[in-house]
Amino acid sequence: MDRYTKKKQAFLVGCADWTVSVLNKADVQEFVELMLIKEGIPPDAVRDVRVMVLPPQYRVRGILHGTLHLEAKQVSLYPVLPQYGGFSRAPNRDLRMWEGEISDPSTKAELTHVSIETLFHELLHLKYPNDEQRVRKLASIYYGDFEEFSGTRSRVPRFPSG
Ligand SMILES: [Zn+2]
Repeated sequence: MDRYTKKKQAFLVGCADWTVSVLNKADVQEFVELMLIKEGIPPDAVRDVRVMVLPPQYRVRGILHGTLHLEAKQVSLYPVLPQYGGFSRAPNRDLRMWEGEISDPSTKAELTHVSIETLFHELLHLKYPNDEQRVRKLASIYYGDFEEFSGTRSRVPRFPSG
């Protein structure tokens, strides 16, 4: 691999790490459970969620590509390089500035939002495998609900445990 390819790879690994940390957060996990219950999707309908790193030459749109493999019960999420059409809030950022890390807060925020909404999107496809429009609309509504859920949760004072 040449130097530039290595940087792309490092950048994607950084994005994947960030995505994993976002999706592992307790409020995300709790909300996903609530959403599955509300939609009547059995929790065993999905076996695992993977965050994958695409080869740098692979081109897809957006900043995060999601797929659902129904038979394998598997959701896969792939961060995408910014010059291929992603990261709307940081359009002029050059990959060379990144040095393999996501240092820009607005990009982090965008990747956080997209990671969560894409996870909702792919999970909703379990119920609506072929209704892309409906899934898009629902995922966006659920994301709004999640923000409220997450915000309310963090404002609630916690009782000390034990
Ligand atoms: Zn879809």
